[in-house]
Amino acid sequence: MNQLDLMYESQEEVDPQLNATIVIVDDEPTTMEVVKVFLEEAGYHNFILIENSSEAMEVLEQQRPDLLLLDLIMPEVSGFNLLKAVREHPNLKHLPVIILTSSSNNQDKLSALDLGATDFLAKPVDPSELRLRVRNTLAAKAYTDHLAFYDPVTRLPNRHQFMECLEKGLASAWHHNEKLALLSIELDQFKKISDTLGILTGDEVLRQITGRFKNIVKGIDMLGPFDVNEYAPANLFHVDGGEFVLLMQNVPSEHEAAMIAVRLLESIRSMLLVEGTEVYMTASIGIAIYPTENGDSLTMLQMASTAKDFVKSNGGDSFQFSSNQINTQYQRRINLESMLRKALDRNELRLYYQPQLNIHTNRIVGVEALLRWQVDEATMISPDEFIGIAEETQLIIPIGEWVLSEACRQLAAWQRAGKEPIRMSVNLSPVQFENSEMPAAFKRIIDNSGIDAKLLTLEITENMLMENAERKIEALNRLKALGVKLAIDDFGTGYSCLSYLKRLPLDELKIDRSFFRDFFENTKSRALVATMIYLSRSLNMLTTAEGVETEEQLRFLVEGACDLYQGYLYSPPVPPESLYEMLPSAE
Ligand code: C2E
Ligand code: MG
Ligand code: MG
Repeated sequence: MNQLDLMYESQEEVDPQLNATIVIVDDEPTTMEVVKVFLEEAGYHNFILIENSSEAMEVLEQQRPDLLLLDLIMPEVSGFNLLKAVREHPNLKHLPVIILTSSSNNQDKLSALDLGATDFLAKPVDPSELRLRVRNTLAAKAYTDHLAFYDPVTRLPNRHQFMECLEKGLASAWHHNEKLALLSIELDQFKKISDTLGILTGDEVLRQITGRFKNIVKGIDMLGPFDVNEYAPANLFHVDGGEFVLLMQNVPSEHEAAMIAVRLLESIRSMLLVEGTEVYMTASIGIAIYPTENGDSLTMLQMASTAKDFVKSNGGDSFQFSSNQINTQYQRRINLESMLRKALDRNELRLYYQPQLNIHTNRIVGVEALLRWQVDEATMISPDEFIGIAEETQLIIPIGEWVLSEACRQLAAWQRAGKEPIRMSVNLSPVQFENSEMPAAFKRIIDNSGIDAKLLTLEITENMLMENAERKIEALNRLKALGVKLAIDDFGTGYSCLSYLKRLPLDELKIDRSFFRDFFENTKSRALVATMIYLSRSLNMLTTAEGVETEEQLRFLVEGACDLYQGYLYSPPVPPESLYEMLPSAE
C-alpha cells in the first residue's frame, strides 16, 4: 500500500504510518530478518525482503513502497547503482532510502549522499535507532506527500490526486461495466473577486464554497443505488483557482449526474458573507460521462472542461453534458418535466377507457382507465413517455389522485346517465404504492364520488410486489380495507412464485400482453398462457387477458376458460364520449 492509498483510508484508527510498505534489500537474509523483527515489534507489518538486488527495481516499480532500506555492498547490483536507478526513475525518485552500511568508510557515505540517500544506519542495527530513523523518515514523507497531494486552502485533494483517482475510477468503471461521471466546475466570478477583493478574500470564498459542496457530496450516498465499491462513490477535488472537479463513480444514469449539478449550482447561488462583504457567486459545470465519451482520463477531463467553457461563454450559472446527444435528450426531459408540472393545473390530462369484456358473452363488464397527456391539439403523449418522469419527481402522487377521482367521477356519471353498472380499473404506480398516505387519500376520493368501492379495481404490477413480502402484504391489506378489488397487472413478466402469490390478497390476474405478441408461432407462449389461467383459477382469481388482437387468440382463451379480455380486437382505449356509445343501457 502506498501513501496515496493510505490517505484514502485516513479514518483508520491505527497510526496510518504503520501500514507503510517497507522494502529491504540486502544480500544477507539474516540481517533482513533481524531488521524486520525489530520493526514488527514497533507495529509495522508490510515488508518485502529482497536478497537478489538485480530483482529489486522490478519489485519497487510494481509495489511503489513507502520506504527502502538498502545495503550498499552486494554482489549483483551494488546499493550505489540501485540508488542511482531509483533516483532516475520518474515514479520512484522521491522514495525515501535509508542506507544500511557496516562500512565506516566516509567516502562511501558521501557518495551515497550525493546519489540522494535520505539517511544512514550502521550495521549491526540498533533497534531503537532503527525505529527512530524509520519513523522520522516516514513522517517527513507523509508531510511532503500531503503538500504534494492536497490543496492548502481548501484542504481538498488536488489535481495530482484527481488524475490518479480518475485513472483508477475509469479502470474500475470499465471492469465493473459501470458509468462514471466527471463534473468540471468553475466559479464564474472567482478571478474578478480575487483581483478586486484580494487573494485572502478569494481563499475564504473557496473555503466556504468547499463546505457547501462537501455537504452535497456527503449526501450523494443517500441518493439511492450508488454502490460503494472500492473507492468512495464521489470525490471532490480542487484543481486550480476557482476550479473544482467532482468524480462520481457508479452513477446509475446521466440523470443523477445532472441532479447533482443542479444542486451544486443551487448551493453556490445563495449569498456568501466574506469578512463582512456580501458576495454572490455562480458557477459553470461541464459533465462528461464514461462510457459515452469512452476515452482516456485526459480526454474525459478535456470533454468536461470544454462543455464547462461553453456554459461559461453563454453566461454561466448552468450545466451542460459534453455529448450533444445527451444534451438533446436531457433538454427534452427537462422540458417535459416543467411542462408536466403545469399539466394538471392546465387540465391537459385525459383518461381514455378500454373496454373489458366477458369472454363468453362478449359484453362489456368493465373498463380500464388509461392516462393520456394532451399537450396541445395536435400532440398527445402516451403514459410510457411521462409516467417515469412523474414518478421521479413525485408528481405521480397528485396525478394519481387526479386519475382516481376522474375515473370515479366518470363511472358515477355513466350510471346517472342510465348505463349498466360496470367495473372500473385504475393503474397504480410503485411510488403511490409506497406512499403511506395513499390509502387515506383514496378513501376520501372514493367517498366523495359516491360510487360503490366494490366496482373499483386497483392494478398493481407484478414487479412492485416482488421484494419485501411482508411489507407488501400489509400495504395490499390496507388497500383492500377500502373495499376495492386488487389486480396483479402485467403478470408473467416478473418472477412471482406460487407460494408467494397464494399469500397475497388479490382478486384478479392480468396476463401481460407480451404473451400474445408471438402467440401463434410460439407454442411456449401458448403453454404459458394456459398455465397462468390455470394458476389464477386455482387461486380463485378472476383472469383477464390483455392485448388480445385476433379472433384466434380469443378462441384459444375461450377454450382455456379465461374470464375477461381487453385488446384492439374489440377496441383500443377510447375517449369517454366514445365509450359511452358502447356501453349497454340498464334495463
Ligand atoms: P397497462 O396497465 O398494462 O395497460 C395496457 C396497455 O396496453 C395500454 O397502453 C393499452 O393501450 C395497451 N393495449 C391495449 N390493448 C392492446 C392491444 O390489443 N395490443 C397492444 N399492443 N397494446 C394494447 P397505454 O395506454 O400506453 O399504457 C401503458 C402503461 O402505462 C399501462 O400499462 C400502465 O402501466 C401505465 N399507465 C397508464 N395509465 C396509467 C395511470 O393512470 N397511472 C399509472 N401509474 N400508470 C398508468
Ligand atoms: Mg393496467
Ligand atoms: Mg398490463
